[in-house]
Amino acid sequence: MPTVRLGEDDRVEMRHNKTLVFLTMGLGLASIALVLLLVLSNFSEDFSPWSSKATDKNNIISETSDSNEKQEIAKPATPQPTPAPPQFVDAVWLGVGDIMSHSPQLPGSYNATEKKYNFDPFFEEVKPILKQGDWVMANLETPIAGKEYGYTGYPSFNAPLELAEALKNAGFNLFSTANNHSLDKGEKGLLRTLEHLKGLELQAVGTASSQEEADALIISEKNGIKMGLLSYTYGTNGIPIPEGKPYLVNLIDEEKIKKDITRLKEGGADLVTVALHFGAEYQTTPNEEQKQLARALVAAGADIIAGSHPHVLQPYEVIETLDAKGNKKSALIIYSMGNFISNQRGGSKDYGVIFKVNIRKNVTEGTINLTEVEAIPTWVHRYKPDKSYRYRILPIEETLAEANDKLLRASDYETMKKDFEMLKTRLDSMK
Ligand SMILES: [Zn+2]
Repeated sequence: MPTVRLGEDDRVEMRHNKTLVFLTMGLGLASIALVLLLVLSNFSEDFSPWSSKATDKNNIISETSDSNEKQEIAKPATPQPTPAPPQFVDAVWLGVGDIMSHSPQLPGSYNATEKKYNFDPFFEEVKPILKQGDWVMANLETPIAGKEYGYTGYPSFNAPLELAEALKNAGFNLFSTANNHSLDKGEKGLLRTLEHLKGLELQAVGTASSQEEADALIISEKNGIKMGLLSYTYGTNGIPIPEGKPYLVNLIDEEKIKKDITRLKEGGADLVTVALHFGAEYQTTPNEEQKQLARALVAAGADIIAGSHPHVLQPYEVIETLDAKGNKKSALIIYSMGNFISNQRGGSKDYGVIFKVNIRKNVTEGTINLTEVEAIPTWVHRYKPDKSYRYRILPIEETLAEANDKLLRASDYETMKKDFEMLKTRLDSMK
């Protein structure tokens, strides 16, 4: 057996070790004598504590204690029970506003040879940011019902499946589908949209194909952190929700949302994001209704409120609150993230934002906190190289800093620079 031979080797090693011990002891005694000599020769000089050398002396003391520590480490290890330090895990939450599909967005994205749309260029410049997210969420404000419904823009939307593919390529994995356009192509259009998203392994929340599906808890786990997800809209543009099928679209109902938050937390969610399609269009500040509802939901346990619908940015709030166990935690209310992609221009409708939030879980305590909140304003650059428009979402600050975009004119830079300050002021105005 190889173990026997190993034992023989060990004995040889031990003999070698004995010789080494004697050598080391001799060397040790010699160094002690040397240190004593050095200390004695310096003693008179360093005697006064007020001398300018006092700090040097402190350094010497710390060096000495360092070497003592090293000696201790070299001794055979004696296991000492130390309390386990708290373990943390992190995940990044990214959220953007409205994904719109206005008619002018289509022709320039069509590849006639492949007979397919390609919307990847919309997201190319923001993709590196989006790829940093574990959860990457948007408000999908259009059905993706299929070609047979016709591709239509405002006021009754239907976007090609290629839009969902491009969103997936860009890094999106969660979609809030409860909004005033959920029923633009009727119940069938809503169901087809859900099928299409499912086919691409993209999670939809806020619309459902059955009561059972609507009641199921949506919990997405990243890096060991479980996020519960909810979504509701103020209405469906006057299109009635088919009778007996309230599960198709979640409507805002404060008491129901509170119950849903509790169900998710009881079901194991570490944090809960509530997407709300609410507020007044083109208003740059939240109204009282928005504030009341969002704050009430935070008090009920929501961690992130992801607002959309006004098509312009509204400020955000970070609220210090307590979790169920009475621990301090932060909650984030984003009232409106504006248009992420759309054909809308002017009145700041061509601006959006990417919210980047670091979620930290203290695994030891089972608590959660938002440790970093960053708002990254974006601009939809629209240009016309031929008879149709092209669109690109640009991260404003980065684009300004790099100042080398071939497709931008000097006037574009000027506008972006001026509006960037305006957007930052607006976003931060409730902080
Ligand atoms: Zn809307």
